[in-house]
Amino acid sequence: MGIVIVTGVPGVGKSTVMNAAKDFGYSIVNFGTTMFEEAQKEGVKDRDDLRKLPVDVQKRLQKQAGEKIGQMDNIIVDTHASILTSSGYWPGLPEWTVKAIMPNQIVLVEALPEEIEKRRSKDTSRTRDSDDIGLHQRMNREYAIAAAVMTGAAVGFVHNNDNKIDEAVEQFRKILDK
Ligand code: AMP
Ligand code: MG
Repeated sequence: MGIVIVTGVPGVGKSTVMNAAKDFGYSIVNFGTTMFEEAQKEGVKDRDDLRKLPVDVQKRLQKQAGEKIGQMDNIIVDTHASILTSSGYWPGLPEWTVKAIMPNQIVLVEALPEEIEKRRSKDTSRTRDSDDIGLHQRMNREYAIAAAVMTGAAVGFVHNNDNKIDEAVEQFRKILDK
């Protein structure tokens, strides 16, 4: 079964798609939670503050999380192909992280920018950025391809459009060959 990395811009609903797919026999590991657990020891209070930390601090936390996750197997990793930081788009799967994890597959969960915008404004539990969602999704495709070239992972898409969660889960099932 190996390791499947699932990515998508904040608010696209990747956690929702993955939770609905829990019966596929994988354990779900959230990269942001693994990073946040380390960051909390250093006084970070909110997971949405992680991407606002100096990039060298984020890099250190990312490396620790990547090494931890790299020791696991039969997992689906909930993470980001790129993170919008104050320095610009920063790779969620740089060489040292993606090679520690060695995924078999990288999945991009996508939706229309206006759908994502609406989902973000409805979710009061998170602090979401107001950014160019279309650009971020295009950047993520490029970052996912770069990570795939370094590891030999296949890149697949799940379209998580409004009121089509069942179809999104079905696409995910097909990609996982379940
Ligand atoms: P999420 O709940 O998936 O939005 O993740 C919370 C936060 O964790 C993100 O906003 C990022 O700051 C951080 N994070 C998640 N995955 C990665 C990654 N692969 N590399 C760096 N930071 C990440
Ligand atoms: Mg999430």
